[in-house]
Amino acid sequence: MDQRSDHPEAAREAEPPPVAGRVSVLLPVPLAGPLDYRVPPEAIVTAGDVVMVPLHGRTMHGVVWDAAPDPDLPLARLKPLMLVPGLPRLEAPLRRFIDWVAAYTLSAPGEVLAMTIRAPLLAALPQRSGLGWLPGEAPPDAALTPARRRLLDVLADGQPRALPDLIREAGIGQGVARAMADRGWLRPVALAQPAAFDRPDPDHPGAATLSAQQAEAAGTLASNVRTEAFSVTLLDGVTGSGKTETYLEAVAEAIRLGRQSLILLPEIALSAQWLERFARRFGVPPAVWHSDLTPATRRRTWRAVAGGHAEVVVGARSALFLPFPRLGLIVVDEEHESAFKQEEGVIYHARDMAVVRARLEHAPVVLVSATPSLETMTNADQGRYGRLTLTSRHAGAALPKVEAVDLRAHAPERGRFLSPPLIDAINETLERGEQAMLFLNRRGYAPLTLCRHCGHRFACSACTAWLVEHRQRRLLQCHHCGHAEPVPKACPACDAEDSLTAVGPGVERITEEATLLFPDARRLVMASDTIGGPEGAARAAQQITDRAVDLIIGTQIVAKGWHFPHLTLVGVVDADLGLAGGDLRAGERTLQLLHQVAGRAGRAEAPGRVLLQSFSPEHPVMQALVGGDIAAFMAAEAEGRRPGHWPPFGRLAALVIAGEDMAETDRVATAFGRAAPHMAGVEVLGPAPAPLAMLRGRHRRRLLLKTRRDIMVQPILRDWLAQVVVPRGVRVDVDVDPVSFM
Ligand code: ADP
Ligand code: ZN
Repeated sequence: MDQRSDHPEAAREAEPPPVAGRVSVLLPVPLAGPLDYRVPPEAIVTAGDVVMVPLHGRTMHGVVWDAAPDPDLPLARLKPLMLVPGLPRLEAPLRRFIDWVAAYTLSAPGEVLAMTIRAPLLAALPQRSGLGWLPGEAPPDAALTPARRRLLDVLADGQPRALPDLIREAGIGQGVARAMADRGWLRPVALAQPAAFDRPDPDHPGAATLSAQQAEAAGTLASNVRTEAFSVTLLDGVTGSGKTETYLEAVAEAIRLGRQSLILLPEIALSAQWLERFARRFGVPPAVWHSDLTPATRRRTWRAVAGGHAEVVVGARSALFLPFPRLGLIVVDEEHESAFKQEEGVIYHARDMAVVRARLEHAPVVLVSATPSLETMTNADQGRYGRLTLTSRHAGAALPKVEAVDLRAHAPERGRFLSPPLIDAINETLERGEQAMLFLNRRGYAPLTLCRHCGHRFACSACTAWLVEHRQRRLLQCHHCGHAEPVPKACPACDAEDSLTAVGPGVERITEEATLLFPDARRLVMASDTIGGPEGAARAAQQITDRAVDLIIGTQIVAKGWHFPHLTLVGVVDADLGLAGGDLRAGERTLQLLHQVAGRAGRAEAPGRVLLQSFSPEHPVMQALVGGDIAAFMAAEAEGRRPGHWPPFGRLAALVIAGEDMAETDRVATAFGRAAPHMAGVEVLGPAPAPLAMLRGRHRRRLLLKTRRDIMVQPILRDWLAQVVVPRGVRVDVDVDPVSFM
């Protein structure tokens, strides 16, 4: 992607002043653009005001937009808008951002606006004053019924609630709350309205004393914040080098200047430790933004952000569309993560759009990673981005020693998945009283179930995918559409009984094996489907920190930024897993993931060790991990992509054509193939069945547009899309800068 300010399509500057009596209004629905409305004579509106307007017999919120209304329409034909007092305005940089994202992703601007304003966010805040409640004395564990726990979970964000709000959010009866108050487990506080977030204290005594290198990097970032100008800086450095401590100093500087900060994390729901660190550094928790918030919290947070009362927001990619009035800093932590790519609705990459928003807000953006994406590395190498590097782990902690275990030479026992060297290493670690972790990026028991008798394989009827066995729940489940069915007693194809056999491992199966091998170890399984949400993840992390656990078995959620001081061994059960399928970034992504998992080991005094089980230890990814030379791998990767104009040395955009009727879907795909652009520097691959040729009952075909870097894909895509009439039953999704090729 390219964030140059001279993007001709997106850099629409402010349009001429509005024609008297009428304005254009953008609605949060997928129309081609804003609609014109009449301004009642007594009203004064300016661009950015939130108003109510009629549309097709309904009224809905909209935002007065900058586009000039059509002066030729008779005023009497326009419907009047209504003012909505008390709502914040959307400032010009955010309006430009919404237009920019729409133009870049070929989405309707209203669809992008819908990510900023949704009706529930704009509903009036409950006007409550008087008494609110906060947790009081901790109840004894035995007294923690599920209802009481839910209530305390609601209050865990530190915000007091009035009783009616509290019981509604927790979904419990009033009696539960009253009884807890009577026992002193809730304490009353006076409610201030509107509830704001406490201001984080940039000079709170919790700040770490930075090393010289950290201090220098922090100083540069802080001075970028002071310039109040756009800049992009890559902050890279090995895992545990203190990147978080360093960028928090830039956040502190923004707070001192009275500017807001946005920190994007790939998996905010799993970031309990991050939130704790923030609170230690600044004395109070930040505002949090992600899809699991209760409606009341969302609304309160949105208002606080818009009113400038939330100084720091940490959020998932959707936080990028919050109405900050004075954004002074954006941080994208783990910038290489593909979780920043939204794959549905408006298809956008939050890291790239963060750079765009920062430019429009005249603010610095910091991209943080131990394994930066090739895109970001290239931008840094070519001088478009600044670069700050932390070269060693904090307090002299050594980087873990990474070794490959060649599974051809060290085969696990039949039907097992842990090799003798890994088993030995785990035993040694446990004997020393240290913690070990087994990583396998696969949920469930087994990725494939087949009938030993006839060879029948269990596949999803709606997707091109095998059903994954979840043994504890006795289900076969499709991880693409969610379809689940009970594990049958007999094979549905040949009626043979007890003939089903599990092929390959998931974490559940590894846990079973570990139970046999290490019966005395206290085990903890961490997988996104079993962890139990943010609270569950926080509890699990606490158990590990408290050394209540010896052996952790998990999927990619264990790779996140956790800091477990007593964890010294990481075993990767199947290091080759991500390399299959072979999309453009398979190698890069596998390296990033495994490096991040490896980085969990040996973060304190005791040295860490990482064992990668692999059938191809000679693979460049394994070599880079073992040799610790990621830069060399990335350089080779770059040289591999440059000649064919693959990103970041060229541009890609995908068309994904999906429909329930296969013949019709194929017809549309063929039509796009025939209408494909013919130009120098432009190439179209496909149409071809997508690797996920069927998803949720829809057949999928893909075309890939590949261009030289100096060619802009949006006008080409627009022309191309205009040439094919797409029937009702078929959808065409445009994915600019695709990350997934499924
Ligand atoms: P990274 O983000 O690069 O993985 P972190 O910022 O998480 O690294 O730092 C790793 C650990 O070291 C954390 O527990 C952090 O609190 C600690 N740490 C880093 N720098 C310092 C410092 N200057 N003083 C004290 N603790 C530090
Ligand atoms: Zn399915």
